[in-house]
Amino acid sequence: ATPTAITVGTGLGAARGVLFKNAGALETAARIRTVVMDKTGTLTRGRPEVTAIVPATGYDENTLLRLTAAVERESGHPLAEAVVRHAEQRHITAPDARRFENLPGHGAIAEVDGHRVVVGNARLAEREGIDPAELDARRDELTATGHTVVTVGVDGHPAGLIGIADAVRETSAEAVTALHDLGIEVVMLTGDHRATAERIAGRLGIDTVIADVLPEDKAARIAELQQRGHRVAMVGDGINDAPALARADLGIAIGTGTDVAIETAELVLMRSDPLDVPTALRIGRGTVHKMR
Ligand code: ADP
Ligand code: MG
Repeated sequence: ATPTAITVGTGLGAARGVLFKNAGALETAARIRTVVMDKTGTLTRGRPEVTAIVPATGYDENTLLRLTAAVERESGHPLAEAVVRHAEQRHITAPDARRFENLPGHGAIAEVDGHRVVVGNARLAEREGIDPAELDARRDELTATGHTVVTVGVDGHPAGLIGIADAVRETSAEAVTALHDLGIEVVMLTGDHRATAERIAGRLGIDTVIADVLPEDKAARIAELQQRGHRVAMVGDGINDAPALARADLGIAIGTGTDVAIETAELVLMRSDPLDVPTALRIGRGTVHKMR
């Protein structure tokens, strides 16, 4: 590696807000064959909004929202924040929750007004024996339109669903096309439900979807992709993504991401623009080319 080429490459990147932390990162960027992208906060804006409230029999929208917000107020999850914001917009005052339990990759549980309230994904609902069969049609409708569906249970019975949408970033589709033009395979990695993930991936032209992944399993999924013998880059923003960023040949953090993600990554996208992923890889290729 000629120091001049590295300096030029690093400088080119910096001018575009693409920060390579070391020379090795630039060289690895040139050799990437697979780019894995986290969904929430990377391909999407990471500012989810509640778009549907579906109470089960015996509940109304406000009661469902009040109980859910009470639990979600204690969680730091972006989906939880969407629920709390929505409750505030409707001037609903959530009561205090007790014995709050955070379940990463699943949801949360707490006691509200003496009731055990469970809020989370289908896996958690199943584990808790909450069978929302009467809500199946609405659930399918929401996932088919790319919504994340949160199931709420009270004392072991279904209380309803909350549909949450997170807009995809404006340049996500263009970024996927630009990566394809570089001959790179694009993979989506997410803890979200398969149907929701596939819907969004389809819209963006993504090649492969790895969904329903627990936070602790994200790194193992990267390792599996590496076993095919290709260099793999991972793009992420969350605490959840840090082990996968570390495991990847090149960890790329979204600039608005959490500190842990930014510290772990070797490349930081200051503008939080997915289009800067192909840009970074092109700079890497240009640098290595000049070194030969
Ligand atoms: P991602 O990989 O998309 O960033 P997470 O691993 O944080 O997602 O969460 C995976 C899934 O678990 C979410 O899509 C959601 O269905 C559920 N979940 C996690 N935390 C919460 C919460 N606080 N409230 C509701 N659902 C949650
Ligand atoms: Mg994320």
